[in-house]
Amino acid sequence: MAVSFDLSGKTAIVTGANTGLGQAIAVALAGAGADVALVGRSSMADTEAAIAAAGSGKSHTIKADLSTIEPVQDVIDQAIAWTGRADILVNNAGIIRRADAIDFSEADWDAVMDVNLKTVFFLSQAFARPLISEGRGGKIINIASLLSFQGGIRIPSYTASKSGLAGLTRLLACEWAGKGINVNAIAPGYFSTNNTEALRNDPDRNSAILGRIPAGHWGQPEELGGAAVFLASPAADYVHGVVLPVDGGWLAR
Ligand code: NAD
Repeated sequence: MAVSFDLSGKTAIVTGANTGLGQAIAVALAGAGADVALVGRSSMADTEAAIAAAGSGKSHTIKADLSTIEPVQDVIDQAIAWTGRADILVNNAGIIRRADAIDFSEADWDAVMDVNLKTVFFLSQAFARPLISEGRGGKIINIASLLSFQGGIRIPSYTASKSGLAGLTRLLACEWAGKGINVNAIAPGYFSTNNTEALRNDPDRNSAILGRIPAGHWGQPEELGGAAVFLASPAADYVHGVVLPVDGGWLAR
């Protein structure tokens, strides 16, 4: 039997798809044939244009602010109303707040935990309900972090949220693998996006990070797409509960 990475006929939902890693993942999934619902607060014009230019799967924008769980059911309903189905969910939207642990505020704790963990759980629940009631499978891909494995500094709520996300990925995999839903995560290393701009602008942190990456360069967003296509595809049907690093070898060091 040939291994299949083909996503034709599938509908994917990607949160935070306007920029950075979410945009690269949406473009990669569409390139593999999926129709992609682009979910977020901002204009998706760049991502829509990139998907149209590639000429494979089509795209559709769903406006939602994921800082609360209020829109989660509507996001799933709108995606299903668009193509009649939702097969793949990529929980990519995420935020980071930086301050020394000794000074870290409750507001920065709550804001990060809400987007990075609470909304991810309830969106996954809303996505899984129709799949389970219809008795058909699907794929959930959570965008974790190296801070799912390591401590980091000056990002307490981010590290807590991404470490929690690794645990949540495993729990959901255990509950839903038997129902044909694959729940996995990708842990990106240091990628060149808005999320890491402060680090890249700090010459000391920038050279310390670069010096520790075996591949010798910051990840470019398009270097993440292949892992997302793999985990979304039939090739990964027996892969459950993994947190897959895509990090230029950082964790191997
Ligand atoms: P980014 O800041 O460019 O993208 C974050 C995305 O999340 C944006 O699309 C943003 O609009 C969206 N978002 C944030 N809050 C939202 C809200 N309330 N409602 C809707 N959308 C919201 O950064 P990125 O690097 O592309 O980050 C994408 C994901 O990858 C995040 O979960 C981040 O934690 C994770 N990550 C990034 C790196 C990296 O090196 N860049 C490393 C590990 C993990």
